[in-house]
Amino acid sequence: MHTIYAAADPIEAEILRSYLAQHGIAARVFGAALWGGRGDLPLDAWPRLVVDDQRDVEPARELLRRYEHRRHAQASWLCGCGERSPVHFEICWACGLERPTGP
Ligand SMILES: [Zn+2]
Repeated sequence: MHTIYAAADPIEAEILRSYLAQHGIAARVFGAALWGGRGDLPLDAWPRLVVDDQRDVEPARELLRRYEHRRHAQASWLCGCGERSPVHFEICWACGLERPTGP
């Protein structure tokens, strides 16, 4: 059993599990059943995605990297200078221009 990802919560874990399944990788969610009582549990009680087959580890990690990339892109805005800033930045961190309004 190989851990490939620690999810933020059981919902994300399930989304990613089906995302991997769509790409032919049979991952399982591990630890989500303990979620309700996580207050007293160590960090490794967070939901994790695991695969049984060693050969699935690298392709799965690659898919998850793409997922994180996309999520990151949604949580940022693109400045005219070509740099991305996090959504909570009102000005570009690189050039100081104001965040463009509209789409
Ligand atoms: Zn800029």
